[in-house]
Amino acid sequence: MLDVYLCEKSKKPKQPHFGSCRCEPKGFECCGNNCDNRLMKMECVDSMCQCDDRCTNRRFQKCEWCKCEVRPAGKKGFGLYANETIRRGQFVVEYVGEVIDSLQSQRRLQLEYKGSKKFYIIRLEKDLLIDATKKGNIGRFVNHSCDPNCQSEKWLLLLLYFYFYFVLFCLNKKKKKS
Ligand SMILES: [Zn+2]
Ligand SMILES: [Zn+2]
Repeated sequence: MLDVYLCEKSKKPKQPHFGSCRCEPKGFECCGNNCDNRLMKMECVDSMCQCDDRCTNRRFQKCEWCKCEVRPAGKKGFGLYANETIRRGQFVVEYVGEVIDSLQSQRRLQLEYKGSKKFYIIRLEKDLLIDATKKGNIGRFVNHSCDPNCQSEKWLLLLLYFYFYFVLFCLNKKKKKS
């Protein structure tokens, strides 16, 4: 599932400088914690990595998210719950929605979402936001917690376009709390 860009093409993230990581295609942990791309929070693609199928830094591309489901979460309405044991550092879910700029966001907040508590906007960078209110995935049901078991991170994937993703990495608890 991909984000839908509603703002100008020029507002897409700029292409950073890409080089190849120095990982070698050996063993089971190719492109593990010491991979240059991983450290920069960038997914590997063939032009940036020599590890091919052994590369473990292609989680978005290989759809390696966890089994989760949306369930009622008391006062918070609904929340996202894990249906399997999640290891520390595992990729849980992607936050998908319409990508809009600040002006579109202000317009939506003032006109369309005024008086409503049900909007799901996350800022990607200065003038890029993801709005999962109208179009999105289960990532929007992750709730805030003062004792969180996940954190969001912004990752870059180079394919035809440059997409930033917000993902949640489980910190070390079996059940992902909403
Ligand atoms: Zn690597
Ligand atoms: Zn790699």
